[in-house]
Amino acid sequence: MLAIDLRDVTKTYRGGVKALRGVSLSVGRGEVFGLLGPNGAGKSTLVKIIMTVVRPTTLQGTVLGEPACTQRVLERIGYLPEHHRFPAYLTGRQVVDFLGALAKVPRAVRRERTERLLELVGMRDWGDRRVTTYSKGMQQRIGIAAALVNDPQLVVLDEPTDGVDPVGRREIRDMLLRIRGEGRTVLVNSHLLGEVEMVADRVAIVNQGLTVAQGTIEELTRDSHRYELDAVGGPAAVTFAGRECPGAAVPDRPGALTYVLPTREAAEVQPVIDALRAAGAVVTRVERARETLEDLFVRSVVDRDGRAMPGAAREARR
Ligand code: ADP
Repeated sequence: MLAIDLRDVTKTYRGGVKALRGVSLSVGRGEVFGLLGPNGAGKSTLVKIIMTVVRPTTLQGTVLGEPACTQRVLERIGYLPEHHRFPAYLTGRQVVDFLGALAKVPRAVRRERTERLLELVGMRDWGDRRVTTYSKGMQQRIGIAAALVNDPQLVVLDEPTDGVDPVGRREIRDMLLRIRGEGRTVLVNSHLLGEVEMVADRVAIVNQGLTVAQGTIEELTRDSHRYELDAVGGPAAVTFAGRECPGAAVPDRPGALTYVLPTREAAEVQPVIDALRAAGAVVTRVERARETLEDLFVRSVVDRDGRAMPGAAREARR
């Protein structure tokens, strides 16, 4: 059974803004799932609907097997909101304990669980300091511990690595995998596509209130496998599988062109290398490549709008 199985979710806010226009979301149990989309796509609205904070206009489906948007299901969901602020006078340990109390976790269970969670997020030694003394990364760790205090089956994390340095981000990624290892489902909303790419089992890309892509990154980028070939002194185009593949100038390398061959087979690339060398060109790079999540994201978002976003150019080299 799916952890989240929502279809045809629409939300028109008072005033007429159509934030969601028929989104669907299928999140399997025990997955790390990335919810992606540009600003204004409707991600927060969708998360708020799952958290029963916003009432949908129409909706079908279930969350953790319950009819969606019934408050009963909240007992089994953990939530780390974006830009959360904990009361300044509390220590990290007290924050986790306090939120556990709010979630009606019995005191004895809470004690033991708070210690275990502080350990999980690497904050045991810092637990008695006030949250105001924490770095952004430490605040996020305490937030993640707090999101787990009700022993949830589904954990919704809004921008968990926002403002966190690279070492801290890696540690948070490892934490997400450990949380998944405990059998929980993790729904992550993040702008850092590289981060999501490293941990997410599946992703959904939402744009203008619709799901424009959903699946594993492998599934969604399957058709993008290619070989890239750089050569100096080659022709303007090479022939591959009966098709002309034009060369694109390599930045900062005068005379060098990149040819992109739509194949994942090294053997199919060899005749092109032979032809280039026979023509006197010097092959300087042969590399297998595929779309990154960022490429996929930009493609999904641009296709729909029919316009390029600033900085959205697809990079030939990485
Ligand atoms: P995202 O989280 O992807 O940035 P949001 O769900 O916040 O997107 O917003 C989707 C759209 O709904 C935006 O156009 C936003 O301005 C609008 N919106 C969000 N919240 C409200 C609200 N409470 N009232 C009216 N419009 C809203």
